[in-house]
Amino acid sequence: MVDVVAQYKALQQSIDAAVLEVMASGQYIKGKAVKDFEAALKDYLGAEVITCGNGTDALLLALMALNPPKDAEVITVPFTFVATAEVIKLLGLSVRFVDIDERTFNMDVQSLRENITERTWAIIVVHLFGQCADMEAILEIAKQHDLYVIEDAAQALGAKYFFSDGSWVYAGTMGTIGTTSFYPSKNLGAMGDGGAVFTKDKNLADKIRMLANHGQNQRYSYEAIGVNSRLDSIQAAILNAKLPHLDRFNEQRAQLAQRYNQHFATISALQTPYKAPYASHIYHQYTLKVLNGQRDELKAYLQQHGIPSMIYYPKPLHLHKAFSDCTIPEKGLPVSEQLATQVLSLPIYPELTREQQDYVIEHVQKFFQ
Ligand SMILES: *Cc1c(COP(=O)(O)O)cnc(C)c1O
Repeated sequence: MVDVVAQYKALQQSIDAAVLEVMASGQYIKGKAVKDFEAALKDYLGAEVITCGNGTDALLLALMALNPPKDAEVITVPFTFVATAEVIKLLGLSVRFVDIDERTFNMDVQSLRENITERTWAIIVVHLFGQCADMEAILEIAKQHDLYVIEDAAQALGAKYFFSDGSWVYAGTMGTIGTTSFYPSKNLGAMGDGGAVFTKDKNLADKIRMLANHGQNQRYSYEAIGVNSRLDSIQAAILNAKLPHLDRFNEQRAQLAQRYNQHFATISALQTPYKAPYASHIYHQYTLKVLNGQRDELKAYLQQHGIPSMIYYPKPLHLHKAFSDCTIPEKGLPVSEQLATQVLSLPIYPELTREQQDYVIEHVQKFFQ
């Protein structure tokens, strides 16, 4: 789905130099590369940045930092990568799933409103496929009910949210805490694992940093039970070399998406990705809805012609054994379940060439002729 080597080749000089510098410095854990990257990302986002081992740890640290009460319930969506909900259960908290919007694939505001209970303590919002959820409405509801908001921005680093007053901010900087992942295929990808936590609250940032470092406030003084989760220095150096290109990468993805959209507009069985008026879209995934029941045939046809495509996500989380004890709305989660049968993601990444994209487009068109 993604040619990660093509991105390396394009930036090889700066990445090689950055990695060699770390190797020669001997600072393999933390050190300058990590500090530099955290400072650069803080500058970009306008929020405190605490790097950690991966995007799942980032979510775990976010919850830990907010001191969840024992019987707390966290609301999230079932149409996401498992990590979003997994961390809630890992901490012994309850998961309450709400449904998603059929156009944006993000948390449905009405479903959220209907499912808040006495025990609800926090909301984990996912900005799926590179587009922010309807944050103004979600933040308003959270405020009314005094709930924390954690933004899972693993797929949305660099995506913008536009408030109704015309101001805008980056995904991950609106809630109490935001998180992201630098998994190689993410919009800002490392050459291994990595993640980060964002917050505008300085005290919370200190606490997250402490928890990510074994709960240590000073050397060999443990204030809380924490974890060991850090971004590798070599990964930090690579990410620092790539960060100045993130906006361009995201712009290139958006251009590729527009090109797909133009060519698929006349295929009535396909619904191209919806772009909400309140958000930019950075197309972590380009996800079509196949409306005529031929999704799996299309996937197989593309496969036969050497074109990868993926189903994100084939089965919503509430239907898995591991989440069988989670709460779902009385109405069920019909939108999540239906979308799981319709969605298909096509290759999209900054280095995808016009010829490669033409080949994909041509075969999608051929299939529906
Ligand atoms: C990738 C991803 C994560 C987890 O990130 P890792 O770095 O793989 O742990 C969490 N949430 C979402 C929505 C993701 O896409």
